[in-house]
Parts: sequence; structure tokens; C-alpha cells
Amino acid sequence: MKFNPDYSTKESLLKLYQKPLLELVFEAASIHRKFHNPREVQMSSLLSIKTGGCPEDCGYCPQAARYHTDIDTHKIMDVEQVLEQAKNAKANGSSRLCMGAAWREVRDNKDFDKVVEMVQGVNDMDMEVCCTLGMLTEDQAKRLKNAGLFAYNHNLDSSKEFYKDVISTREYEQRLDTIENARKAGISVCSGGIIGMGESEEDRIGLLMSYMQMENPPESIPINALVAVEGTPLEDQKPIEQWELIRMVATTRIAFPESVVRLSAGRTKMNMEAQALCFMAGAGSIFAGDKLLTTPNPEYNEDQEMFSILGLIPKESFADAPQPETKPDEILIERKQKEALRQKELEEARTTTDSNKFEPRSIRSVDSL
Ligand code: SF4
Repeated sequence: MKFNPDYSTKESLLKLYQKPLLELVFEAASIHRKFHNPREVQMSSLLSIKTGGCPEDCGYCPQAARYHTDIDTHKIMDVEQVLEQAKNAKANGSSRLCMGAAWREVRDNKDFDKVVEMVQGVNDMDMEVCCTLGMLTEDQAKRLKNAGLFAYNHNLDSSKEFYKDVISTREYEQRLDTIENARKAGISVCSGGIIGMGESEEDRIGLLMSYMQMENPPESIPINALVAVEGTPLEDQKPIEQWELIRMVATTRIAFPESVVRLSAGRTKMNMEAQALCFMAGAGSIFAGDKLLTTPNPEYNEDQEMFSILGLIPKESFADAPQPETKPDEILIERKQKEALRQKELEEARTTTDSNKFEPRSIRSVDSL
């Protein structure tokens, strides 16, 4: 059951969202138990592999170049650095690594080659790899799939109607196209939204309706609470109530019984009791580590303690779908061959210059005349 036929209209879904909270949580918990192991919660890590300088204008995002925020920007990380961080995340219990780059779209350049290498390396560590890199063509999606990409994240953020109030540089349809490109390449889709941006309850339901209208709704639906960052247009948004996040998690759980609902940004504002209700209502994943892309997140130790108190177990990687196979990437192979040839030629040129070294004639000093 990819979506729940009992709630396939906007009216029925809104009515569900507005149910008395504990009844809503109970219904969500009952559905969750039928389709998932309620004790399992996946620990995922989010790593910003390229931070800031993004040409887009997403009103909530501190990485947009046009807003004046105090984030530390950096170019794309080295592959080795990323693999090291992935190793640490795995050692701390994460079974999924999501790599984010602040790009409008993927370009077929050396930076993308690096991402392909990162995906290969992390998949070879037996971790689920997810990327969020902006818009993506079908060919680029295929290349990532061959590298071993497990999931591609591209959020719709909100309803089609409200979206325009937050983002103007990219159309809602373009987002749907990217999701479709990932699908065509056989990559699992991760797509969700942010609540607390000033949207109405109807907009929250509108977001879920956009997924309801897809032939295949996302396998993974992250639900974020806005983290209002100084310098962004949404800096003055009042934080949402914890109850609203619990409602949204529960409604998403009921609407899409098979998908993994991910409790994502905004956990620092929640106490353990509220998070426990989210797990009860069907949240099957959290981001672990003290930082999301650029905003704060609870520390590893705090989460370990919460898992132990609530009796939760970290979910293993590839519990929901088989591990993708890493296949050789023609473009990377050719680039490496070219680089090896260039190094060889440089070395030869150096040796030739050494053997033809100019030896100046010895000139007798004036003293010896
Ligand atoms: S959310 Fe992504 S696309 Fe939008 S400004 Fe931030 S980095 Fe750019």
C-alpha cells in the first residue's frame, strides 16, 4: 500500500490532520506497526560537501549567496575527506549518509566526477548513500545510480500554492522533473517538506497531496521544522509548536504507510517526550551528529541516551531495499587515464631536462688572472 486510499482526497487528509492529537497518534502508531518494526529508527548523517554560494533564493536557506548569513562557505570537499567523515559517521551508528551540495543544478564537470567517486566510496563502505545536489538530468541520475547511489533527495518543501511565496528562482514543476529523472534511473526518492514557514494547514496537506498524485510516492519523506536563520527572509518566523510537527509526522505516516518518515531539521527545539511521540507516530529516522547542513542538531551522545531510554534500535543499512551495485564509471576511468598520462609526460619532461642540464663554463676568477 504505497498510499492510503482512505485519505486520498485533500478534504479527508485535512480532516485526519485535524483529529484530536492522541487519536491521530494512535492511528499512526497502528499503521506504523503493520508496515515497519516500531523499535527500529535509522540514524542518518548529513554532510555538506559544498557549502554556500548558491544562486537560488529559497527563503529559508542560509546557503543562498544573496542572503547575508554567517555560515562558513567552502568549495567541494576532497573525496578522501568525505570518506573519512563517512567512516566516523558509520562508527557512531549511522547507516545512511546524505551528501548535500549547494548547487542550483548538477553540471557535468570535475566537481560532479568527485561526487561520483564519493558515492562509490561510501557505497563500498556498505552505507546507504543519498545525495541532494539540486536539479538533475536523467543521464546524471543514471551515472549516480551506477556509482551506487541509493537515494536522491529533492524536497518539494510545501504545497504548490505556497511554494511561490518562498522560492522564485525554480518552478515547482522543475522539482517534479528532477524527482522523475531520479525515478527513471531507478533511484529511490527522498522528498519532503518544511513546516513553520508561514504556510497554512491546507498547505501542509497540499504538500502531501503532491506526493499522493505521483504514480510512485517517495520511499522516504523527511519532515522538517524551519530553523529560522538570521539574514534569511524567514529569520523572524515564530518557531512552530512541537505538537504541529507530531501532527505532520503522524499524518504523513498514515497517508504513506510504506514510506520511511524522517524526523529531520528542528529536533533541537524538541524535548525527548515530543520526539518519543514522533517515533510512536511513525518517524523511522533521525539525523545524527551535531550539525545538519548548516544548522545545529543534537549531539551523538544525547541521541544514544534517548535510544536507550526509549528502547529504540538503530536500523541497519539496506533493510528496505537491496544495496545498489557500484559499477565502473567510464568518465572517471578516462579522466584517471588522462591524468596518469599527463603525470608520465611531466615526469619524462623533467628527466629529459635533468639530463640536458645546462652546465655553465667555469670562469676563472679575477684573482687568478
Ligand atoms: S535550499 Fe538548496 S537550492 Fe535552495 S538556496 Fe539552499 S542550497 Fe540553494
